[in-house]
Amino acid sequence: MTAGGPTDGAAAGAPAAAKRRVPVRTCVACRTTGGKRALLRVVRLPEGQGVALDPTGKRSGRGAYVCPTAACVALALKQKKLERSLKTPIPDALADALRAAGAETAAADA
Ligand SMILES: [Zn+2]
Repeated sequence: MTAGGPTDGAAAGAPAAAKRRVPVRTCVACRTTGGKRALLRVVRLPEGQGVALDPTGKRSGRGAYVCPTAACVALALKQKKLERSLKTPIPDALADALRAAGAETAAADA
């Protein structure tokens, strides 16, 4: 059938909303993009409030992601990848929280 005029006019004339970029979540340690596996989100809070782990992924602010694995968390912390990505120091408490999250996931996986 070569009856032109496909009815995809909606796609052709799509408003900007349809082109909204899907944010790509990339682990700062292994550079894997988060697909099915939810990455841990670390967000830099506004007004010098430091950084926080963002389990819901809903906090606003500059975020960085890391796989919920002990290996990636360790690498991200050791090489200061999170700090570089967020341009702010990662406090020990947050580092501990990340390690705990990574350890939990690893344990659950095993
Ligand atoms: Zn990773």
